[in-house]
Amino acid sequence: MSKLGGGPEFDLIRSFLADAPPLHSSVRVGPGDDCTIIGNLAISTDASVEGVHFRRDWLDAFAIGWRASAAALSDLAAVAAEPIGVMVSLALPEPDRADFARNVMRGVAECVKSFGGSLLGGDTTSAPVLVIDVAVVGRVVDPVLRNGARAGDEIWVTGRLGGAAAAISCLQNNDSPNAAALERYATPRPRTREALWLKARVEVHAMIDLSDGLFGDVSHIAAASGCAIEIDSELLPVDRQSGATYEHAVAGGDDYELCFAAAPGAIEALREEFERSFGIEVTRIGAVRGGEGVHERRADGSVAPVTLRGYQHFRD
Ligand SMILES: [Mg+2]
Repeated sequence: MSKLGGGPEFDLIRSFLADAPPLHSSVRVGPGDDCTIIGNLAISTDASVEGVHFRRDWLDAFAIGWRASAAALSDLAAVAAEPIGVMVSLALPEPDRADFARNVMRGVAECVKSFGGSLLGGDTTSAPVLVIDVAVVGRVVDPVLRNGARAGDEIWVTGRLGGAAAAISCLQNNDSPNAAALERYATPRPRTREALWLKARVEVHAMIDLSDGLFGDVSHIAAASGCAIEIDSELLPVDRQSGATYEHAVAGGDDYELCFAAAPGAIEALREEFERSFGIEVTRIGAVRGGEGVHERRADGSVAPVTLRGYQHFRD
């Protein structure tokens, strides 16, 4: 498997995998990347839990379904796979509230329709809190994994960072996020088309989607690729329009932008065309170096290793 970065959630995953049976011979990529790859299929699953990923006074039923689907589809984008479809397991505290469940599934359907793919199946059950688990399947011949970054590469991100975290901060303080921030949190847009576009034009060496926070997520590319990643704090595209701070941009998750490594100059040559095609930016934020871990280059030119501040489940 690909080597994962640090943190208690990933220590727990490592302990599961220590006891796992060996991989079947048809598995090209096993656990430890954004998707498993079997033949030309990319497969991933993503659970969203009430009280952990969302609260019902923060998101309506439609947004709960959309957001869970977008998070799952984002893992397909991270390996540059084209969506085929989703399977949805829905656990509901009030199984009699059919209208609520239907609106969750309307959010799922709209999101999947927007980015390509079908509803392939699923399961429903009851549970003390609302849980939605979305499994995704996509087509990919030549996946972009986390382990191909090499010293000298540039690190790039799509879009702007921190908007979803800015919304969550507001909601936690009983403030209303602005419309831009709420949109980033409630109805994020997986960068499916952007990933396929980039993959068709340039050799992307390594890629991940930003679900847990920039520093935490790039640590997985660094660990899998056996290199260090230096992020230049001055270059980060902080989502100021959403009220995001630098902290939101580096440590907050849920933006579902893509972060990737490519050879020097390769993306700059396509930058304007990318931004014209998709109406979002693509920004160089750092570089791959020899060594290990994630390092932050500050405004004064100093470089310091990053302690992991990404949002971590199971932190306590
Ligand atoms: Mg991912």
